[in-house]
Amino acid sequence: MQNDGLQTDVFIAGGGPVGLMLALGLAQKGFKVAMAEPVPLSNAPEQAKNSFDGRVLALSYGSRKILETLGVWEALSVFVTPIKHVHVSQKGYLGLTLLHADEAGVPALGYSVQSSDLGKVLWQAVQGFANIHMLCPARLVDFSQDTRQVVAKVQTAENEVTVQSRLIVGADGTDSQVRKVLGLEMEQKSYHAYGVIAQIATREHPQGWSFERFTEDGPVALLPMQGHSHKAVLVCPEEQLDSVMALDDAAFMDLFAAKMGERLGGFCEVSPRVAYPLKETYVPQMSQGRALLMGNASHTQHPVAAQGLNLGIRDIGEFLQGLDAGQDPGEINYLQTYASARAEDHEKVMGLTDSLIQVFQHHSPIVGHLRGLGLMALQAMPGLKRRFARFAMGGAARGVQR
Ligand SMILES: Cc1cc2nc3c(=O)[nH]c(=O)nc-3n(C[C@H](O)[C@H](O)[C@H](O)COP(=O)(O)OP(=O)(O)OC[C@H]3O[C@@H](n4cnc5c(N)ncnc54)[C@H](O)[C@@H]3O)c2cc1C
Repeated sequence: MQNDGLQTDVFIAGGGPVGLMLALGLAQKGFKVAMAEPVPLSNAPEQAKNSFDGRVLALSYGSRKILETLGVWEALSVFVTPIKHVHVSQKGYLGLTLLHADEAGVPALGYSVQSSDLGKVLWQAVQGFANIHMLCPARLVDFSQDTRQVVAKVQTAENEVTVQSRLIVGADGTDSQVRKVLGLEMEQKSYHAYGVIAQIATREHPQGWSFERFTEDGPVALLPMQGHSHKAVLVCPEEQLDSVMALDDAAFMDLFAAKMGERLGGFCEVSPRVAYPLKETYVPQMSQGRALLMGNASHTQHPVAAQGLNLGIRDIGEFLQGLDAGQDPGEINYLQTYASARAEDHEKVMGLTDSLIQVFQHHSPIVGHLRGLGLMALQAMPGLKRRFARFAMGGAARGVQR
């Protein structure tokens, strides 16, 4: 069954964090927005079939600034835990780096937040705008475009809706339907590894400490959450996944402690584990005609570096900054200027994340000692350390985002 259709300025495919934040920014500038999201916001994060699941996100101080301009930071601030100190080390070798918020001149190096809490805050905020039309559950099926407009076909539970707009944004994740319809090439790299994520409690309060430790099988990380909880991330090679996932709670905590070291009085409780395949994808061409890819649809990162969403939030900041109310948001020159402004940040973050993983996964003892020297040198050089702090906490690769 087909209906008469919707007319809007911007149609966003995907109501993940990037789609929702972009919708808010556009609506604040007075644009009419329609968006489609297949997954309704679930009350139970572990049942969510999109990125508003049990994962914990580290947001940079720069992301906080953009969320403030979008008017959602205040509502989100009750759910976040400030990260005040970061401890970076490698198992089996000397050398460590300590990063402190006060040395970097910021109130926090970053903030950890449950993605489900971020989802709740963003959904509530978009509901406050009469110029955002949310179709949910609904998915983009196809679209066509000419020089003046885009016509999208959206499948809802009841019927097929036609949406006419001046711009279509693919914020529909790594497997983007917008990218597929455009036929854009995607570069992919698999790390042949999984990120195993769990909530883990320590006997002592984390007091804003975050730990990242590199081991020969991959990094492990501990992000502070509210109370005595942390998000634990353990990266393991593909071939070890089944045995790691089969461990009971006590055995998992033993394995985690063996890799991470006994932190904050030791680990005393752990949640069920969830595993994510680790890959990096990149679509070199971000726009075509009146269509634009943003967030994971354009670039997907290895989550251990905590860069993916921060990079997507900077995409939104750049896109909105140059856009005046009443302007044609899908004007080709505007999209191309935006795309070339973002390319450098995308490439730098992806390159740095990849080299960090390669260098720290190298098994040679000589490389191990060199890494140790590198960490010590970083500790001794405040300027370098500040830059590393900004990168480690998902800051911009170009310009200072404070
Ligand atoms: C374990 C883990 C930990 C992470 N930690 C961090 C971190 O600490 N810091 C950080 O910055 N990043 C982190 N990330 C990355 C972060 O989760 C992503 O960068 C972020 O979710 C990207 O948001 P997005 O909106 O672009 O895409 P997604 O979150 O993938 O959302 C895409 C949305 O599109 C919808 N969709 C799919 N197909 C269609 C269609 N045909 N039509 C309409 N909608 C569609 C999906 O349902 C989904 O809701 C982590 C990722 C993982 C896996």
